[in-house]
This record gives sequence, C-alpha cells and structure tokens, in this order.
Amino acid sequence: MATQLKANSKYSEAEWTARQELAACYRIFAMFGWDELVFNHITVKVPDEEGAFLINPFGMHFGEITASSLIKIDIDGNKLDADNPWHVNKAGFVQHSLFHRTLPDAHAIIHTHTTATVAVCSLEGGLQPVNFYACNFMGQLAYHDFEGVTVREEEGVRLVEHLGDKRILMLRNHGPVVMGKSLPDAFIKYWALQRACEHQIATMQMGKPIPVSNDVIAVHQRDLYMATPPGGSGRVEFDAMVRKVDQIDKSWRD
Ligand SMILES: [Zn+2]
Repeated sequence: MATQLKANSKYSEAEWTARQELAACYRIFAMFGWDELVFNHITVKVPDEEGAFLINPFGMHFGEITASSLIKIDIDGNKLDADNPWHVNKAGFVQHSLFHRTLPDAHAIIHTHTTATVAVCSLEGGLQPVNFYACNFMGQLAYHDFEGVTVREEEGVRLVEHLGDKRILMLRNHGPVVMGKSLPDAFIKYWALQRACEHQIATMQMGKPIPVSNDVIAVHQRDLYMATPPGGSGRVEFDAMVRKVDQIDKSWRD
C-alpha cells in the first residue's frame, strides 16, 4: 500500500503487509455497508507461506477487524495461529478453499451478500448489458444454480466446472464469488459488479432498460482493458478508499 505501515515483529514483512491490506479491505466493505452481520468472507493467500491463507475471525464485524485479529489457516480451514483466540467459520471457507486450491491465480477471493448483487444473482437472466459497468462483465461471468448452503464438498466439482475459465461466479439465489490476482484487483471487480447491479435494479424499477449491442460491448471492453492501470488493477482506487477509511478510524492497522 502507498501509505506507510508500521511493522510487526511477530509476522514476516510480507504477511504483515497482507494482513494490513486485508484488514483495510474489510473496513472498506463495512464503510460501504457491504457487510452481513458477522458472515461472509474475504480471503487472501499469505504471499510467503505456501498453503496459508488469511480469513476474518468468526463473530467479528467487518468494521472491527484488525491486521492481527485476522486468522491464518491452512487450505482445509484449520487454524495456524495458535494464539489467536478467535475461531474460523470453517463452513464458510469451503468454497473459498475450493477455489484457492484449484486456481493458482485466485490470490484473493471475495464472497458477500450485498442486496444488489444477490438481487441480480436471483434474477432470471442475471446481469444484463444495460449500463456502463455491466458492459465490463459481459461474457466474463459464470453462473451456478442454487443447491442450498454451499458447505458440501461434492458440490465443488460443479462449482469449478461452472466457473470454467471465468473468475467471477454468480451463485444463483445466493451471491457472487469474485476472484482477483491481488486484493485490489478483486476489490475493484467487486466494486464495479456492485455498481452494475445497483444500476440495473434502479433502471428496471423505472421501466424497460436499453440493451447495449454486442458490437458496442466489444469496443467497450477492448478500450477499457487496453492499458494496465498504474500500480496494477484496482491499486489507486483501493488506496484512495483506505485513506477514506482512515478518516473514520485507523485501528485496522494494529
Ligand atoms: Zn454466501
């Protein structure tokens, strides 16, 4: 992150940076109202420890999460942080675990139940090409039918199959799973998806949306994804939101 972060001798520099970035991300989600009581997860790989991940402590609100309260777990959701008094919602990690295990490029995974994204996941036809942000995602979303709460490992085969080469899975009647090569990358994708869904809902409440043609979508995506933004996908936006979070409360850094 661009902002100077104080070190913590208990963790490697790479892990501490990852912890602070993830804690900041939870605070950003809380700031936007994208939290769900104590549920839902944003997970990242620990960069310098193969097979280790960071997850939110179960029972803690997104707005309370700090760098050191995040729990380090293995791919099966077993706690590696022996002295962290909090527990892991292992059931909630099942689908994250599946994608972290099978997709080497899924560094960060976000799954939340925001009203707008769940509404569109629950709509026949899902996300429609009817606004700017939605056009970013046309042809890039995968869908998976609802089979009940996603805790059964046997559903995993179908989840991976339905995801295919996409990196956003719209769980029908449930909510999206957004994967990124980095946390800011996953964040910016989630943000744009959230905005696309909000705009679609607002438009459908007024009447019939104007569909965007495939030709225009192709031009839109070509021009949009032509250049890599400075610092990588989502970096400047993420850092700007961290500064906004800092105006509320800086305790996430601890
Ligand atoms: Zn869920």
